[in-house]
Amino acid sequence: KTLTYATRANVLLACLKDAPACAEDKAAQSLLNKLIRNNLVNNTNQVEVLQKDPNSPLYSVKSFEELRLKPQLLQGVYGMGFNRPSKIQETALPMMLAEPPQNLIAQSQSGTGKTAAFVLAMLSHVDPNNKYPQCLCVSPTYELALQTGKVIEQMGKHYPEVRLVYAIRGNKLQRGMKLQEQIVIGTPGTMLDWCGKFKFIDPKKIKVFVLDEADVMIATQGHQDQSIRIQRMLPKNCQMLLFSATFEESVWNFAQRIVPDPNIIKLKREEETLDTIKQYYVLCNSREEKFQALCNIYGAITIAQAMIFCHTRKTAGCGEMQVEQRAAVIDRFRDGKEKVLVTTNVCARGIDVEQVSVVINFDLPVDKDGNPDNETYLHRIGRTGRFGKRGLAINMVDSRMSMNILNRIQEHFSKKIEKLDTDDLDEIE
Ligand code: ADP
Repeated sequence: KTLTYATRANVLLACLKDAPACAEDKAAQSLLNKLIRNNLVNNTNQVEVLQKDPNSPLYSVKSFEELRLKPQLLQGVYGMGFNRPSKIQETALPMMLAEPPQNLIAQSQSGTGKTAAFVLAMLSHVDPNNKYPQCLCVSPTYELALQTGKVIEQMGKHYPEVRLVYAIRGNKLQRGMKLQEQIVIGTPGTMLDWCGKFKFIDPKKIKVFVLDEADVMIATQGHQDQSIRIQRMLPKNCQMLLFSATFEESVWNFAQRIVPDPNIIKLKREEETLDTIKQYYVLCNSREEKFQALCNIYGAITIAQAMIFCHTRKTAGCGEMQVEQRAAVIDRFRDGKEKVLVTTNVCARGIDVEQVSVVINFDLPVDKDGNPDNETYLHRIGRTGRFGKRGLAINMVDSRMSMNILNRIQEHFSKKIEKLDTDDLDEIE
C-alpha cells in the first residue's frame, strides 16, 4: 500500500517476466538496454581482431572522414552527435566498407556501437536508384527491429532516396507485389516468408545480410533455422554480418553457419568493481517494514536517478504491462523525467545501469536454488573502474535468511556493507 504512494509519485515501472531466463526475457532486457542508453559505454579494453586473411593489412580509422562516406551519410552521422568512431567501429567500419565486401562476426556488450556500425554499412552499400531490396536485417523481435529502424531513419535523414520497410507479422502485403524499398528489416519468420513463399523480395539481389543480436535470436525456437534458411537463398557474394553481445559456444556455432570466411572482432566487457560504491543494508522485521523503509529512503534518493530491483512483478506493482507502455516509461526515465525505476529482474544481469547513481535491492539477488547470485549483484551495482562515478547501493534485509545472503555477498567481495538507519538518512545524502 505504501508502495502505491510511491507509484503515484512518478515511480517508473518496468517489469520483466518472472520466469527464468527465457527468450522473451532476453529480448526484453536487450530492448530495455537500448531504451535506457543514449551514449556509448566506456571500455578501455583492446579490440581483438582475427582476420580471415592474416596477411592483409588491418585498417582502422580514427575519424569518420577517413571512411570516405557519401556526404549525406557523413551529415547523418554528425547529426546524431557522433564525433569519432567507437572502439568497435574503428575496426569494424573499414572492414564492412572494404571492396570487395568482407564478412564479419562481431561481439561486444550492448552500447558499444554495433548497431550504428552496421546501419552505416547498409546505408553505404545500397544504390538508391535501384528500386528493390538490397539489404536485409533480421532482429529477434518486432520491438528490436523497430529500434534499429529508428537508427536507420536517423542516420539516413539526409539520404531520403533510401527507403526502409519492416518485415514483421501484421504487416500484410498484397499477393504478387514486389518491394521497392532498398532496406528490409524484420523478424526471421516474416523475412523468410517474404523471400520464399510470397516472393516480395528477390533474395538473389541482396548485397548485405545483417543478423543482429545473435545470442537473443537463438534463444527463440525456430529463429535459428529460419535465419539459416534465409541465408541459403542469398547469393555467394552477399556480405554477411553477424552481431552479438555475448558469445557462448551455441552462439559461435550458429555464427559460423551464417557467416562463411569471417573476420572476427571481439571487445571484452570492462571488469566491474565495487570500489567506488558505498554499500549499505537496511534491517527490517517484515516485508511491510521494507516498504516503509523504502518510502523513507525515497525522498532522499529521488535527488539522483535510482533503480529498485525486486523479485516479482507483483511487488514491483506493474502487473501485465505492455512492451510499448514499458518503453514509454523507460524513455521518460532516460530523459530524466522520471527519477526512479522499479524493475523485476530475477534472472537478469543484462541491464546496464551505469548512469544510475543509486541502486536499491529491495530483494537481494539469488539464484534458482536460493544461493546468493554474486555476479548479478556485482553487475547491478558495480561500476567499471576507470570511469566509474561514485555510486550508492542499498540492500533491504527482512529475514534471517536474507541477512545470511547479505553476509555471504559481503564475504564474497571482501567489502563491508554498512548498516543504515532509515530514520536518520543524513549519512547517504
Ligand atoms: P550497440 O548496438 O552495441 O548496443 P549502439 O550502436 O546502439 O550500440 O550505440 C550505443 C549508443 O551510443 C547509442 O545511443 C548510439 O547512438 C551511440 N553511439 C554509437 N556510435 C557512436 C559514436 N561513434 N559516437 C557517439 N555515440 C555513438
